[in-house]
Amino acid sequence: MAAAGLATELVNTSAGVWHGEDQLPDVAALAAFLAEHGVAGPAGADDLPAVHDVRDRLRSVLDERDADAIAAGAAALVARGIGTVGLETDERGRQQWCAQPRPDADLADRLALLAGVGVLGALRALGPERFRDCASDTCSGVFIDTSRPGRRRYCMPDLCGNRANVAAYRARQKASRGIS
Ligand SMILES: [Zn+2]
Repeated sequence: MAAAGLATELVNTSAGVWHGEDQLPDVAALAAFLAEHGVAGPAGADDLPAVHDVRDRLRSVLDERDADAIAAGAAALVARGIGTVGLETDERGRQQWCAQPRPDADLADRLALLAGVGVLGALRALGPERFRDCASDTCSGVFIDTSRPGRRRYCMPDLCGNRANVAAYRARQKASRGIS
């Protein structure tokens, strides 16, 4: 589920979601994103275009609403970085599937693997109806709702949710003042 969250957050760094302002414009921003999500670096200038490309591909997967199409797109991302699949014991002593990258996988390949596995896991556990568009009128973001109740509406709840609330509040104020 953490990997599904990374997938959502990676696609929503794109310039399209931020009205032209890419949130991963340089290596420093990329390094900060990786650190925030516990992804091993380092990130170099060569990695940036490849990561942007993975982000675009991932976006087209999260734009799908059909389970087979999501699965196929995510499998293609996984294929970029996959080395081996096995079982590893987690901290609670339970065995979990573990996908390891190829030894020669670069950063973009590893991100593709991680995001792809996250998408597949969320699709299998929660279904395609958890793949949604942001409910904000002014946002073109998408997200995977991995919350337990499954009622998430915004790609960036703190930001888009507030933006929508502020817009609704202003609309009500205008209406109550009789200004159109
Ligand atoms: Zn949004």
